[in-house]
Amino acid sequence: MIDLKDLEYHELQTFLTEQGEPKFRAKQIFSWLYKGVEHFSEMTNLSKQTRERLEQVCFVSTLKIRKKLVSEIDGTVKYLFELEDGNCIESVVMRYKHGLSICISSQVGCRMGCNFCASTIGGRLRNLTTGEIINQIIFAQKDLGERISNVVMMGIGEPLDNYENVVRFLKNVNHPEGLGIGYRHISLSTCGLVDKIRQLAEEDFPITLSVSLHAPNNEIRNSMMPVNQKYPVEELLAACRDYLEKTGRRISFEYALIHGVNDRDRDARELAQRLRGMLCHINLIPVNPVKERNYQKGTEQEIRRFQKLLTDLGMNATVRRELGSDISASCGQLRKQSMEEA
Ligand code: SAH
Repeated sequence: MIDLKDLEYHELQTFLTEQGEPKFRAKQIFSWLYKGVEHFSEMTNLSKQTRERLEQVCFVSTLKIRKKLVSEIDGTVKYLFELEDGNCIESVVMRYKHGLSICISSQVGCRMGCNFCASTIGGRLRNLTTGEIINQIIFAQKDLGERISNVVMMGIGEPLDNYENVVRFLKNVNHPEGLGIGYRHISLSTCGLVDKIRQLAEEDFPITLSVSLHAPNNEIRNSMMPVNQKYPVEELLAACRDYLEKTGRRISFEYALIHGVNDRDRDARELAQRLRGMLCHINLIPVNPVKERNYQKGTEQEIRRFQKLLTDLGMNATVRRELGSDISASCGQLRKQSMEEA
């Protein structure tokens, strides 16, 4: 059975034509899907016969809200969504002046093994389908009754390790008959899968690429992120420079500041030297606590000092505001959960 939300618009057109449906049917059904209908019976402009015919060959996937936590500090909402196979993933909606932004997951778990991140504990169970990725937006929007205007792929999983489904997702989320969210309102974060960054550059979507750099050199990066053994800093930065050249889009580097690991003055200087001359932004994230790990963040003063060293050296660096800290909704704190745990 086909989940209609796994199909791109033109594929839906082909599929429906093959089912003997008229051409305008794709437009009708596509817009129902992204409004969050859960059954064909809700597609009220389709005849009963059409609905019954379609039910035989395809379905509309849904997500169930298993748990919903709302931060008392800043109104951030964390959802624990249950997938149709019983696995659970997390998504977070953040409130900004410019509107709602959702942080979504791309896999059930993660196999990248970064040793400061909760999402990778227990490894990766499977990729999310295109429909499951987009459902996080559809069902959060439906639950909140408000439009979500920005999307960050910074939840559980490595999006570029689920490349095909993520690219389909990007096309559908942007489609005017679907959610119509502009590429410029979408960020995708990667731990640095160099071959996939190069492939993504060829797609030429004007999204923002965020790269989890976290260290100025291979020695430190190797100690934090196994992916660096395969794609060392030099290769990663070369791919970022090529991406920038191809797309003209500024790269955003994420740098989780961990006390005594990567937050010394010389780390800031080396980082500035490494990134000099590149159109980029450095997003400093004071490391968030993960109970299985023992990393500490520096004091506010130490964090500001690191930032100032960078800006004094001409770099564009800001400290990411921490949202949803009372509900473990911050970077690196999202995790897959099984039914029993949920
Ligand atoms: N796999 C992708 C998407 C995850 S994005 C990636 O690695 O980019 C989540 C961001 O939060 C990444 O930059 C990740 O490195 C960062 N992160 C993970 N654990 C963290 C922690 N404990 N504190 C702060 N940031 C963390």
